[in-house]
This record gives sequence, C-alpha cells and structure tokens, in this order.
Amino acid sequence: MAHTPSQEVKNTTCYMCACRCGIRVHLRDGEVRYIDGNPDHPINKGVICAKGSSGIMKQYSPARLTQPLRRKQGAERGAGEFEPISWDEAFDTLAERLGKIRETDPKQFALFTGRDQMQALTGLFAKQYGTPNYAAHGGFCSVNMAAGMIYTIGGSFWEFGGPDLDRSKLFVMIGTAEDHHSNPMKIAISKFKRDGGRFISINPVRTGYSAIADEWVPIRPGTDSALLLAIIHEIMAKGLYDRDFLVRYSNAGQLVNVDEANDDFGMFLRSEAAADEAEGCYDPQDKLWWDRKSDRPVVTHTPEADPYLLGEFRLQDGTTAKPAFQLLQDRVEEYTPEWAARITGIPADTIRRLAHEMGVTARDQRIELPIAWTDSWGVEHDSVTGNPVSFHAMRGLAAHSNGFHTIRALAILMSLLGTIDRPGGFRHKAPFPRPIPPCARPPKGPEAVQPGQPLDGMVLGWPADPDDLFVDEQGGPVRIDKAFSWEYPLAVHGMMHNVITNAWRGDPYKIDTLMIFMANMAWNSTMNTVDVRKMLNDKEENGEYKIPFLVVADAFQSEMTAFADLVLPDTTYLERHDVMSMLDRPISEYDGPIDSVRIPVVPPKGECKPFQEVLIELGSRLKLPAFTTPEGKRKFRDYPDFVVNYETEPGSGIGFLAGWRGKGGEKSLRGEPNPNQWEMYAKNNCVFHYELPKSYQYMRNWNKGYLEWSQRNRITRYAEPILIHLYSEVLMKFRAAAQGKGSSRRPPAHLAERVETYFDPLPFYYDPLECQATDKHTYPLAAVTQRPMAMYHSWDSQNAWLRQIHAHNLLFVSPRTAKAAGIEDEDWIWVESQWGKVRCMAKYSEAVEPGTVWTWNAIGKAAGAWNLTPQANESRKGFLLNHLISEELPGGAQGPISNSDPVTGQAAWYDVRVRIYKAGADEPEVTSPQFDTMKPYPGQAKRPRIWNFFAAKGGKK
Ligand code: SF4
Repeated sequence: MAHTPSQEVKNTTCYMCACRCGIRVHLRDGEVRYIDGNPDHPINKGVICAKGSSGIMKQYSPARLTQPLRRKQGAERGAGEFEPISWDEAFDTLAERLGKIRETDPKQFALFTGRDQMQALTGLFAKQYGTPNYAAHGGFCSVNMAAGMIYTIGGSFWEFGGPDLDRSKLFVMIGTAEDHHSNPMKIAISKFKRDGGRFISINPVRTGYSAIADEWVPIRPGTDSALLLAIIHEIMAKGLYDRDFLVRYSNAGQLVNVDEANDDFGMFLRSEAAADEAEGCYDPQDKLWWDRKSDRPVVTHTPEADPYLLGEFRLQDGTTAKPAFQLLQDRVEEYTPEWAARITGIPADTIRRLAHEMGVTARDQRIELPIAWTDSWGVEHDSVTGNPVSFHAMRGLAAHSNGFHTIRALAILMSLLGTIDRPGGFRHKAPFPRPIPPCARPPKGPEAVQPGQPLDGMVLGWPADPDDLFVDEQGGPVRIDKAFSWEYPLAVHGMMHNVITNAWRGDPYKIDTLMIFMANMAWNSTMNTVDVRKMLNDKEENGEYKIPFLVVADAFQSEMTAFADLVLPDTTYLERHDVMSMLDRPISEYDGPIDSVRIPVVPPKGECKPFQEVLIELGSRLKLPAFTTPEGKRKFRDYPDFVVNYETEPGSGIGFLAGWRGKGGEKSLRGEPNPNQWEMYAKNNCVFHYELPKSYQYMRNWNKGYLEWSQRNRITRYAEPILIHLYSEVLMKFRAAAQGKGSSRRPPAHLAERVETYFDPLPFYYDPLECQATDKHTYPLAAVTQRPMAMYHSWDSQNAWLRQIHAHNLLFVSPRTAKAAGIEDEDWIWVESQWGKVRCMAKYSEAVEPGTVWTWNAIGKAAGAWNLTPQANESRKGFLLNHLISEELPGGAQGPISNSDPVTGQAAWYDVRVRIYKAGADEPEVTSPQFDTMKPYPGQAKRPRIWNFFAAKGGKK
C-alpha cells in the first residue's frame, strides 16, 4: 500500500536573524518541508523574509556539526584534526578542568558569546561560577547605541525602543542599512510611506532602507556627530525646541556650578533641605532651577515655578551657575552648518534645511491623543501630546571611536524636539525606560573574585561614578578584556574584540580556558584576523599553548571551530527550547511587555545538544549555587525545567518567562512557577503579550502610574521620574576624578588626560581615534561594511538558497574615485590600510559617497570552511574587510590600546582608512590572503552535489 506521508504544522519563533518573527514550520514525515510566517504573531503578522524562509537550508546544511569532537593528540590547532567523543567524556573533561579553576582562581575561565539570545542564562552561569570574564557580542556590535541612549534618555533603539511610525510625519534614519528589526521595520515603513510620511536616510551608502527613502543624504563615515551638533545648533538658534517638554522632563533648567575654582565645578547645585527629604532616593529631586517669576533659586518642579533655560546666575554664597541648557547652547555655538559641511561633506544649506524641517514638523504638526495620565509630580493631564518626528539609528553611528558622543548628540536632538516616549516620536519598550544609569553595578575590585564563590556583583553593569569601576588598587583592570577599567569605564557590554589578544599577551594576566559560543573569532567576528589566528595557535617556550584550552560551541563547522581543543555541537533554532526573556532582550512592543519562546519542531541532529543544556549540566556538575539544592543535589532536570522553576530570588515570582505564571497559569509577570507554562506558550503562538492600560503607554519616564506598575512588577527598582540628561553629571564625575577633584577613585596618571577629555558632560565632535593616527593623504578613503538584506551578519552565508543571492562580495566604489585611481569596473584591485591589505574585485556604484568604499559583511570564507567546496566563490572571490582593521592602536609608552571608543570600549570597526589600486596584470584573479584549506570533520554530512554551485572555474560542479 502506498505510504501516505504525515503532515504537520508546528509554530515556533524564527532565528534566521535577531528579529524574532513568528513562523510555522510545515513538516512531512517529521522532516521540514517549508517555513512560512505565522499570521497570528504580533511581530510579523504572517510576513516572512528571504532569510526566514531559508531556515530549511540551515537545518539541512552539510556544515552542521553532529557530535562532540576533541582535537587529536599531536595535531596543531587550526588543522581541523578531530576525533569524536561522547558527551559524557566532554562533560567530564570540562567539569574537571573548570572545577579546578573555580577552586583556585575563577577568572582563569572566560566565557564569551556571540549574537545569541540567552544572555540571562550565560550571564547567570558566569556570575555563579565566579568569573568576571564574561560578555556577549555587544561590545563589538552597538554598545555605543545602548550606552549613549540609556545614559541620556533611559532607553535605546531596537529591542528597547523605536520610532512610532504609525503616527510620525517625518522619519530620519541614520547609520542603518538593513536592520535587526527587519520585518517589523519594513512593515512599518511601508505603511508610513503609504500614509504620506516623509523618510530621510542619512548614510554613506544608499542600500537597504536608504534605497526607498524619499531623500538620501550621503555623509562621510565617522562624522555623524558633526552633523547632529550642527542641527542642534540650528534648532537652538531658531528657537525650534520644545521648551515646555525640556523644562518639565529633562535637566535643561537645572543649575550647574560654573565656578572653575570650586571643587564642585561642573556639578548640579542642590538644595540641602530637599536633599534631606530625598534620602534613599536613586536620583534625588534636589537640584535647583532659577525661577523666572520669583527671580531666585527654587527646587526643581516647585509648583508654579518656571525656570530660566538661558543665562548666568549668582547664588547668595557667591557661586555662579548656568542652566544645563545654556551650557549646551555654549557648546554648540561653534558647531555651525558651515563648520559641519567641511567635516561631513553635506552642504550647509542641506543641514539648515534638515534642521528646519525637523523643528517645524515637530512644532506645527503636533498630535494630541485623548488619553488622561498623571505625571510623577502628581499633575493630571487630560491628553497625551506628541511631536511627530522620529529617528532610527544603529551601527553606522555606533561603530566609531567617537560613537558614544554621537549617540548622546542624537538623543539630545530627539529630546530638544520633544519626541521622547510621545506619540509620533521615539517610544520605549519594556523593560525600558530604566533609571539613568540603570541600577545594576559591576563588581568594585579584585576581592569580588574568590575561589569557590560566585562573583560579588553583576558581571555586566552600569557604572554611575568612578567608585563603580572594576579596578584594582593601582587602578588597573580586573577583567581580561579591561572593561570597566579607566581605559574603557562604561564598557557596559564588555569588550569581546580584545579577549584573545589580551589573553595571548597576558595583559592584564593569562587565562587557562576560553569558551566561545556562537562567535567566529578566527574570522569575521575579529579584527586583525590573520594575527588573531596566529595568537590562537601560538605557544610558550615550554610548548604549551598561550591560551591553554579552547572550547568552541557552535552548530556549524567554521574557521573558529578549527582552533578548538573541544568542539561542542549546538542545535539549530528548530531543535531547541529558547526564551526571549524580560530578563534579557524580549520582543516587547510600545503597548507593553511581550516575551516569546522557541519550541523544538524537530529532534536534534545526531548528538547535537543545545548550549543551554550544556550550561545547566555544567552548573549542576560544578554545584553552582543557583543550579543546586541546599542539600547539594541537582536542582533542574534540563533547560525547560530551569525556565519554568528558576526565580531571580527564591519566592520572588519573577522568572525567565512572564506569561502564564502562578500554579495554574492565572498570573502574569509575577507569580509562582507554573508546571504547564511551556504548553501554554505553545497554545498561544509561542508569545505572551501584556497590553498596558492606554494611560501607561506614553511618557513613561515620568508617568506615575506606569512607574509604580513597573516597580510592583520588578521591571524597574525605582518609581522616581527619569529626567533626560542633556547634561550628564555622571560623565562629569569621571572628568572631575581625572582633574583630581572629589573623593572618588582617581585614574592612573597616564590615563587622566584621556578620561578628562572624553568624559565631557556634553557631546562634542572629535575625529575618530584611528583617523587621528592615520596619514589621510596616503589612506584617503573610509572603508565600511553593510549587512546584506539576505543574511544576518555572517549567518547563513553558507545557506544553499541565500548563496544564490550573494556567493561573493565586491568592493563598491564611486566611479569618480575609481577612475581617478585608474580602476575599471570589475577590475581586480588591492585595498590597503596601514594594518594590512586584501585583493578583491571593484564594482562601480553611484550609490556611495565618493570618499567611502564599502562591501557586504562576512561573505568571504576560508577555503573549505562551512563545508563549502574549496573552490567556492566565497573563498576564491569573496573577501573580508577585517584583514584591514586592527584590534589595537598605538598607545605610547604604556603599550597598545584597544581600537575602541574611549568611553564605552565599542569596537571601532568603521574608522579604518584605506587606499585602492589596481592589481598587477600578472596577479591571479583570486582574493588574497588565502588560508590552508579546511577539511570536513568527523560526523559532517557529505556535500550534496548541488551545494557546489557558485564555485570558481576548476571547481567541481
Ligand atoms: S526578519 Fe528575521 S526573524 Fe523575521 S522572518 Fe526574517 S529572518 Fe526571521
């Protein structure tokens, strides 16, 4: 009898990018047939992109790892010589090694992870283990975006906030190509444009979203803050700012001590009486305004008072003070459109027109919604109003060594226009807004790391002043990546891009074991790829590796796995449980918190095991307190059991998932563990959505009802108003320490000038550090990458369907620039920076600013990597720009410094300068550098013949 195939459809959440759309996986006889969008999912409403529907080719990719592997005795790292081992052997090896390290010096173990969505668990594991050496990919991604915004407005773009395109009239996108928030952003932009909204894109390159903008404004990379400061100059000069909004909701009117001789220079003036009342507050409302009506200083938000925003005032004790707004105006005075035009390449008239359009749209097209709400000072409002200008920005602004101040400037511009958490402007997503800075703090010194003990403090946190730095008595770093040290004080996402170099050099110390999850640190996730690969393989005089033990957990064979001593095969997103948790990066929308899950739709391939299960198993074997009962027994059966039963504090009712809590699933956000929680998510499209009352959906920094609700549900710790920091006293405290003022810790002498310079309480423009260290006559061009629409970072650049869109990359060059260098379209050329050079093909493009060259990110591969044929176009024609970028810059007598933002440690990927020239006629038409061909590992599937398409001549077809 003919076999009737079984058909099934299972819902889960996509992970072909970080956008997290709902998907339906169609199965025949248990095998994936195709994937489409889930129409009932709140994020994508049935829409699926090319990446999402290509998930089937990730699932069946021959690059998949299928069993734990150990480097063969005597084989060199990088050679890819492995033997299969059992999971028991792998766990025994790890538990023994990590157990010994934990009992002696836990910081000898470092755990760094890539673009995963499980930082609540990986961070918990690191803290419980007791190592400070943990971070995810944020430091080399967009930490400047998070830190610059959160230290200014208490929230940020992407998971934690975004443009309200339903009501906006003018939308300005800056430094964004194809975004993380892919499908939702596309849906929103298409509706916005159909509704008649105007969309301006500011970017050196016109691709992705910029290609459908009404106006493209090309800009030179790394100069965005010059543009933003000049727009602020114009908005202030023309009086186009929202005065009422600034007075009430920002620190614009607060008086700053401007007596240079005074020890409190640069700090806000405070009322002693109000300070007494404010005892125990997180951000006491004890600062002063100069009241226009009574012409005297009053405590801020005194009823009926109305502060001056401009002027200079003398207090009774003789102290002179200026409102923060005046200091901002003083700062931007010199930042005229003409000044910015010289730096950005944007004509001064265009800058003026942009400023005018933003200011007038915000002022004249005001929105009013009939929603009553009460502010933090008890004032009742009949409606919510908004100024319909919105922005979106991402790595194009962030990945520069001047990015933190650029993003501060953007957040200040958005605030001047009165667009924070208001209709038509920027809106927060839970768990944000949070106090400035958020409450979690890193540990304060080496004593936080103790043998056999959890870490005393959060592995990653938000320093509020110099006493929150994680430094030793001499002011030296405690972490291997030097995050939270005086070199990078606000490195709130860690600095993964320096871990290998620092560990190799033993600066600040050597480590024993480095565990990397889902990050290709021997290829596209690292700067200076050639040398980093050598470091991974480098040995001490006694023959030991400089980094003695390397563990790599990944679902795929990659350039990085080749260097591992132990390879742990991870599952795909279709094979495991996952949570997009409120404790981490949920999928919340503007109207309230949303979290979601993944539920396996197929069993793991071979012996693959989810990395979460690896951590639960290791946590149990190592008897880490959070994973162990008081009797010393294993607490959680597996990861799903952990998700249901773990509470942040015993009895708190707060866990990884916010939906269907309480014994029968009757509670939300807080409640006892529910044994059937996973089933309830499964029945509800894998999503929990808590819609806030309308009166809690806006003005959340200062919305009494929302803040109290948020505090009750432990989303935030304090219900105090979160005033926008136009002027940052937090930054000023670091500057004051560098100037030898105040009683907090002081930076080491060699770093005092650096801290004093970059911890400016107001944004300022400076040439990116690498540009300052480059001869721009020799290397005149900026070089950047963009993420293609069809691939998320490097993910799925091996995917059989998506390779049909990009199997190799080209260097896009303005024809004017190329012709001046004697380069024809599609010529083979050299691109050279002061750090290295690559050979690749040039492609003429009018869609690029003439001083910039660019390429798609991470298409190039090492030969044989990802189980592609060694002749694949990815390795013969594709190339990595990473070879041209250094992870360090010369640092003078004290040795090299990280090629990063001096405030946050953000990797400065986009600061590199290059020159281009034609390759010699006798040179091979192959990309350079090339690397030894990688071999398939034991347990990897044979490549189907069709996988060999898109290979250079001579390759197998
Ligand atoms: S946008 Fe991202 S999450 Fe959504 S379908 Fe595409 S790949 Fe999947």
